[in-house]
Formats: sequence, structure tokens, C-alpha cells
Amino acid sequence: MQANCIKNLLDLKDVIVKNIKNLKDKVEIYIELPVKEHICPSCGCSTTNIHDYYTQTIKDIPIYFKPTYLIFRKRRYVCKHCGKKFFEQNDLLARYARRTTRLTGFVINELRNLVSQSDVSKKANVSPSVISKTLPYLAVSNSTLPRVLCIDEFKGNTGNYKYQVALINGETYEVVDILECRQKHFLCEYFKKFPKEQLDNVQYFVTDLWETYKDIAFTYFRKAKIVADHFHFARYVCNAVNDIRIAVQKKLPKDERKYFKHSRKLLLSRQCNLKSDEQKDELSYILINYSEDLRIAYREKEELLDIIHSTDSFETKSKSFSEWVKRNLESPVEKLRDCAKTYQHWYTEIKNSLEVPYSNGATEGFNNKIKVLKRVSFGMRSFKNFKARILLLNR
Ligand SMILES: [Zn+2]
Repeated sequence: MQANCIKNLLDLKDVIVKNIKNLKDKVEIYIELPVKEHICPSCGCSTTNIHDYYTQTIKDIPIYFKPTYLIFRKRRYVCKHCGKKFFEQNDLLARYARRTTRLTGFVINELRNLVSQSDVSKKANVSPSVISKTLPYLAVSNSTLPRVLCIDEFKGNTGNYKYQVALINGETYEVVDILECRQKHFLCEYFKKFPKEQLDNVQYFVTDLWETYKDIAFTYFRKAKIVADHFHFARYVCNAVNDIRIAVQKKLPKDERKYFKHSRKLLLSRQCNLKSDEQKDELSYILINYSEDLRIAYREKEELLDIIHSTDSFETKSKSFSEWVKRNLESPVEKLRDCAKTYQHWYTEIKNSLEVPYSNGATEGFNNKIKVLKRVSFGMRSFKNFKARILLLNR
């Protein structure tokens, strides 16, 4: 009974625990496997004849924060028929492993958390190099592509490139893959490896306003609608407002400039999100008293965001967007004309975005995780290890 309790506690099924030594700096668990009929790997005859024993020390998951070792008295059988000597079978470890399978499992599970590799290494009592050697095996790319594919770069600063690319399933938010760099030839190499039916599986390709991604979509995703990510294209008009605000600010006397800096948040927030009367009054004051261009740009920004977030029919939104572009192509404000030109260039993709609920908003939570991961790890030099960590965090 007691022996069974210990076995359950240690989660060591199918082994015989001969002894446990709880030493000052480590725990040693002495184990053996029961004698069992074995099939000779050479001639196929069965045998229970034992030839000799060999003691193997295997690192296991720490118990009570102490390094823990299984002292495995490994049996060697001998074939009665051909004399072949061979080790008994076991599920505990691979042939030459110095760690239990479950310790490796423990390490992998710990790596799913937003902690540094050195923390995992301490907790699991394995060297950091074991972890960095294990990680590349876990950086396994998905072989399938989702119906809604979101593509977005992020500043990973790993490997040889500043920016890495995240491919995310726009419906489940699952990370499909992480690519080392966003250069066109690299992306081509990547996507051309997928069979045609996989590429055709993608019905929506969600992207920021970057020409390379559009080219990739045209080349590989022939069946997909390209959807401009609304977070990205809305940023253009917000930037226009901010640029004008900065220009206004520069012309102000020093003391007033300080006050005016508060206007940034007010001008870039949605008007409907301003809660207090004080904020609303301050915004009106800024819009009335400083610059005609700023007033116009602010109004157009609000108009555009209204269209994006509207629950109207696609036809209505689409019509409003066309009018917005047409109007602003002729705007007296240069920044708005530039913005409208960009939108005109991406007209189809932006219109598509008004029709479907997909955006790269899903990647926002993803980006936050990456930031924390980079912070706890003090950056990651190896791309493969970085990729493995991201995939473990997000799958
Ligand atoms: Zn044999």
C-alpha cells in the first residue's frame, strides 16, 4: 500500500521504487522495472533471462525544489536462442537520454509562460544550453493556411533582421507562423512552398498598407480578397491631425506651447470617447482658437472613423468612404490631400475592410506578449528560439 502511494506521488507507474534518499542537496529515487518477457531484437525469440545490470542516473523533475535523480538499475537480457544481449524496454527515457521524458515535457510547459529561459533552467534544474538546444525543435511551422490570414510585422530584433512577420489566423487568433524577415524574396520563398489548394484556402488576406504584402497576395493568394487593416489605414488620418497639431504648436509662444501639448490626446481620441465636460470644452476651445487646418483635419478624422465603426450597411459605408476620398482629394489641407491619395491607391482593399469584420486587431494582444517576452528574456538573439517561444506562448 505504502509503496503504491509513493509511486502515485512520484507519478512513476510500471516501475519498482526500491529506495528514496532525501539528501541535503538532492533527492535520489532508486528504481527498477519489473522482470518481463522480452523479444530478442536479433532473432525474435522471447526471453526472461537476465544477463547483468547497469546503473544509469537520469535527471528528473525537481521535487521540493531539490535536484532530483532517478537511479535506474537497468537490466540487460540475454537471448536463450542466439545469445544476443540487449537492454530492457522502457517508456521513461530515450536510449542515451540523461533526462526523463517527463522532465523535457516539464521544461516545454514552463516555456509556455512569459518567463525567461534562465528562470526555466533554474526551476527545472537543467542547464540553459539544454533549453536553447531543445527550442529549435519546437519551432515547427504550420503546414496549413487559414481562411482568414492576417499578416503583420513586429519589431523582434532577432536573428539578422529588425522586423519579423507574424501570420495570424484572423478568426481564431492563433499564430500560424513567424517569419524571420519581411523582405519580398523571403516571403516569396516561404509562400511558394505551400501547395495550391492551401493557398486557395485563404479567402481573406488582411494586411497593412504595404506594397510588398499586396504583391504577395496578388501572386500567391489568387482566390483571396485583400483587406486593408483598418487600424493601419486609420492611422494615416490620425497622423495628419497630429502633424498639423505639431506645426501649430511650434508657432506658439513657449508658455502656451506647454498647455497646448495636452491637446494631443484630446485631438487623437474619438470625440464620443470624451467623457467629462471639461475635456469636451477644452477640445472645443482648441478647435476654435488655433488653426483652420487643424479644425478641418479633426473633423475629417472623426468622419472617417465614424465610417469605419459604423453599423450601417456595406453599401452606405462604401458610399460614405468614396465621398470622403473625393472630398479630401480636393481639400485645402495638404496633409489631408496626401492621406486621400493613399486611400485612393488602396481603394479596393479599404472598401473590402468595410465589408468584413476582419482586422489585425488580433495581433495587438500578440504584440504585447512579444514585448513582455523580449523584456523577460533581455532580447533574443536566435530567431529559431524566439519563434519557438512565440509559438509555445500562442498555441
Ligand atoms: Zn535471439
